[in-house]
Amino acid sequence: MNTMHIVCPHCQAVNRIPSERLAQQPRCGKCKEALFNGHPLDLTGSSFQQHISRNDIPVVIDFWAAWCGPCKMMAPAYAQAAAKLEPHIRLAKLNTEQEQSIAAQFNIRSIPTLVIFKGSREVARQSGAMSAADIMRWISSHI
Ligand SMILES: [Zn+2]
Repeated sequence: MNTMHIVCPHCQAVNRIPSERLAQQPRCGKCKEALFNGHPLDLTGSSFQQHISRNDIPVVIDFWAAWCGPCKMMAPAYAQAAAKLEPHIRLAKLNTEQEQSIAAQFNIRSIPTLVIFKGSREVARQSGAMSAADIMRWISSHI
């Protein structure tokens, strides 16, 4: 049986989920919350590393900031993409204003920037606001 490691968005525990149960609204074994809720997950400095390194599913990060108009424009499109792509892909957000050291670590020069991670490794990045269809097409072409 193929088992996937999925990091809980609530308590950051690493869950082992049989891949065929991934789409059956699995809950965290530790805190019992839903592992997926169809919304982009807000990451912080303390949860970011855990999510990009311990998830067996690809993790997409939207590097954004509250002052950025195009970021706000893209937010509903990104949420739509999350609703469609979960639970096979985790869509998350990182506020570059609050987490400047992570933004610097990944050399984020403009926002919004989307970065796809697979097992800690960056596999693609794209800057500039996109529609939901473009986000899904771009992600699908890199995973
Ligand atoms: Zn949990």
